[in-house]
Amino acid sequence: MILAVTMNPSVDISYPVDRFKFDDVNRVETVRKTAGGKGLNVARVIAQMEEEVLSTGVLGGTIGDYIVQELNQSNIPNDFLKIKNESRNCIAIIHEGMQTEILESGPTLSKEEGTAFLEKFEGLLTTASLVTISGSLPKGLPTHYYRKMVEISRNKGKPVIVDSSGESLKQVLIHEKKPFAIKPNTAELSQLLGFKAEAGIMDLKQMLNHEIFKGIEWLVVSMGDKGAFVRHGDDYYQVTIPKIEVVNPVGSGDATVAGLAVALNRNQAVESVLKTAMTTGMLNTIEAVTGFIDINKFKQYFDLVKVEKID
Ligand code: ADP
Repeated sequence: MILAVTMNPSVDISYPVDRFKFDDVNRVETVRKTAGGKGLNVARVIAQMEEEVLSTGVLGGTIGDYIVQELNQSNIPNDFLKIKNESRNCIAIIHEGMQTEILESGPTLSKEEGTAFLEKFEGLLTTASLVTISGSLPKGLPTHYYRKMVEISRNKGKPVIVDSSGESLKQVLIHEKKPFAIKPNTAELSQLLGFKAEAGIMDLKQMLNHEIFKGIEWLVVSMGDKGAFVRHGDDYYQVTIPKIEVVNPVGSGDATVAGLAVALNRNQAVESVLKTAMTTGMLNTIEAVTGFIDINKFKQYFDLVKVEKID
């Protein structure tokens, strides 16, 4: 079973309006509410790939209840720690071809809640074969919280894929107990290294050779429509994808993490792992719903992904 962690889930609300009026009333006819947060997208796509998954993290209040209800309706097994404060809403106003977002920062966790989740997490690891950790940390938890989760997992011999950014990712990387895989996009890679990653193959190779990445088995740098650049052990790969009709690219990185997790969990060969991760990313972009894939289209897209080993 893959354990998919979301520490700051949300109810994502989409408000489509023809024209967004400032300092005035905007009426919305069709409201769409979905359980959101990067880790929930990962869990959903893993479930759509028919792999066993358990979604965990922390949530609270009626918004938390709504998230659980949504997950149950989608048949996604879940086991979250209930916290005192209310989980967050994230609002996207879709107007005139644009998307204006209002994102709540979410609840603040107490120290006790932070400790309680680590205990719960350790318990859930018993039946897990692989872990994914996605997204931002909620307020109240230290930036080295993910590092602790990776350490606990590693001590139990469970590989972890971390898809986070900023300080919490940095903290994970500088620790001696390394994650099994990370999946930064180019912007996150630049932020991590402190310089721009708009680079050719040789530069990317050099970047992924950085001291900070030592000991990480899989470094998958996703590059949107350009596919991905990957380091696996001491080998480098360029993965290219076909030109496709994009409907909604939001959540593609999460779908990529889901594909990566499933393929690694199934012990697939390198080429197949990378093709799977790219395929799930692409399949997400061709759907309107965020963090959703049509598995029936998998083979068609999988066959179009090219993996080239770089010397
Ligand atoms: P993130 O969502 O984390 O920023 P990316 O934008 O790199 O991640 O997207 C992850 C993966 O999803 C890509 O590697 C690719 O497989 C697929 N993808 C994303 N955007 C596009 C696009 N415009 N066209 C084709 N595939 C895409």
